[in-house]
Amino acid sequence: MKKNCVLLFYIILVVSPAAFLSTRCMADCSTTLTEKRPWLGLHILITTKDKTEQLTEVVKDLAKIGVNSIVAEINYGYEYKSHPELTSGNPSSKELIKKLVDECRENHIRLIPQFQCLGHQSWKETTFPLLKRYPQFDETPGEYSKNEAIYCRSWCPLHPEVNSIIFDLMDELIGAFEADALHVGMDEVFLIGEDVCPRCKGKSKAELFAKAVNDYHKHIVDKHKIEMLMWSDRLIDSSKINYGKWESSANNTAGAIEIIPKDIIVCDWHYERRDAYESIPMFLNKGFRVWPASWRKPEAAKALIDYSRTFSNPRMVGHLNTTWGAVPIKELAGYEPLKYSISVFRTTQKTYLSEVKELMQQKWPNNHTVNIVCHGHSVPAGYFKTPDVDTFNAYPHLLHQALKAKYPYSVINVIVTAIGGEASDSGAKRFEQDVLSHRPDVITIDYALNDRRIGLDKSRESLTSMIEQAKSRGIKILLLTPTGDLSAKLSDPEDPLNKQAELVRELSRLSDVGLVDSLAEFKAYISNGGCLDELMSQVNHPNRKGHELVVKAMMEWF
Ligand SMILES: [Zn+2]
Repeated sequence: MKKNCVLLFYIILVVSPAAFLSTRCMADCSTTLTEKRPWLGLHILITTKDKTEQLTEVVKDLAKIGVNSIVAEINYGYEYKSHPELTSGNPSSKELIKKLVDECRENHIRLIPQFQCLGHQSWKETTFPLLKRYPQFDETPGEYSKNEAIYCRSWCPLHPEVNSIIFDLMDELIGAFEADALHVGMDEVFLIGEDVCPRCKGKSKAELFAKAVNDYHKHIVDKHKIEMLMWSDRLIDSSKINYGKWESSANNTAGAIEIIPKDIIVCDWHYERRDAYESIPMFLNKGFRVWPASWRKPEAAKALIDYSRTFSNPRMVGHLNTTWGAVPIKELAGYEPLKYSISVFRTTQKTYLSEVKELMQQKWPNNHTVNIVCHGHSVPAGYFKTPDVDTFNAYPHLLHQALKAKYPYSVINVIVTAIGGEASDSGAKRFEQDVLSHRPDVITIDYALNDRRIGLDKSRESLTSMIEQAKSRGIKILLLTPTGDLSAKLSDPEDPLNKQAELVRELSRLSDVGLVDSLAEFKAYISNGGCLDELMSQVNHPNRKGHELVVKAMMEWF
C-alpha cells in the first residue's frame, strides 16, 4: 500500500508536471497551568544527559504546539550528591537540569520530575543501581539470576533502611527541578509480598502497596507541601475492570485504593482503543484527580480523550501523552499522536460555539437564520480536478448537510466566499466587503495551502487581521490547517505545508478561536494505513473523501 503511494507520487511528478502548473492552489502565551486549563502533557525519559539536553532544545517547540506540562522521568540518571553510588551511566548535572527548568518556566511549561519507585528496578538483564548497590533491599534477593523469568525487580517496601535513601534522592530532585510536584511511577509492580522476603511473606499485597504509597505521600505532600502523581494500574482491580494484567492489577494490590490519600493525581494509562475506560469514573468517584495517558496510536488516544471528556468533572485534569521511545526527542514537537491528541482535546472543548448551537436548536418561531461563511482558496471553493468545481461534494456543502441532519429546526445558510488561487493577503483585503457583509455567525478560514506562496510572516499578518476584524464584531472563527498535498513531504516538520499548519495552530491558540486541524486528520488517515492519494482528486485538491475528513473535524465544534 505504502509503495503504491510513492510510485503514484512519482508518476504525477515525473510524467505529469502539468498537473502542478494547472492547479489553482499553486496558484499561549496563555499556557500557564492553572486548575481551569487542561493539562496537556508529555511524559519523557531523561535518564541520560544527552536526553536532557535534547529535551531542553525542543521545549519552545513543544510549547508552540500546546504542551503545557512535562513529566520528566529521570530515575538514576542524575548526579546525586547525597548518594553518588546510585548515579548511573551518563547522568544529568544540577546545572543541566537548571537549564531545562529555566527553559520550561520561560515557555510556561510545568516540569514534573519522576522517580520510579518500588517496581521497575531492573530492565532485562540490567539491575538498576539501588538493588545493585544495596541488594538487601531487593524483594527477591538472590533469586532470578540474570533477571530471567521476571519482568522487573522491586525493592521491599518494608525494609527499614530503604526509604531514608530514596527520600534523599527525592529531596535532591525536588530541589534541582524546583518542583511543585513529583511523579513516583509505581506501575507494573509484579513482585510484591513475595514468599522469599522475610518481612513481606504472607502479608496483604494491597496493604504493602498502600504502605509504600502512604510513605511517599507523607514525604512529598506532607513534608515538602508539593503534589504527588503516580501511575494507575496497581489500583485497578482486574476482576472488576479487566484491562489485562498490565494496565490493571491481577496481583491483589488494587485494595490499596481504599487506604491511600485522595489528593494523589492518578495517571491512568491506556494505549489500546476501547469503547469505555471504566477506571476513569472509578477514580473520579473516589475523589482522585485523573490524568488519562495515551501512547502512539492516535485512534486509541482519541477514544480515551473522547471518553474522558464525557465526565465534566473538575478533577479530570487533561491529557498526558507518553512516548516510550516511539519518537526521537529532537522530533517530539512533530510527534503526530501528540499533536493529534492536543488538537482533539482542544476541539472537544465544545463551548466555543455554544451560542450558535443554541440558536440552531431553536424551533420556529424563536429561531432565526444562521449564516456560516466559508472563506479561503480553491478547496472551499470546491475545485476538484481543475477546472471542475464539484460544489456538492466539497466541505461547505457537506457541512451544510451535516448541520441540517443534526439541527433539523434550524435555518442555515452556508455561503462560500472562497476564490481559487487566492492567498490570505488578498483574502484579508476583501474580508469586510465580501465576508463581513453577510453578517456571519461563524466564519471558516482556509488559506494555508496557498499561503506557502506568501510566506509565514505575511500569512500571520493577514490571518491575524481577519481574526481581529471578526472578533471585534463578536463573530466566531474556525481556522483550518491545510488539507493534504501530494507534493508536500508530510513527514518532514520543515516542509512548508507543516510550517503553515503550525502557524494556524499557533494563531488559534493565541487568539482563542476554533481550530479545525484538517492536516492532522489527513495524517491520521495515513498513519492508520491509508494512502494520501485516496483522499485527493489532484495533487493539491482533496476528493470527496478528503472533504469528508474536514467536515468530520468541523462537526466536533457543532
Ligand atoms: Zn519485602
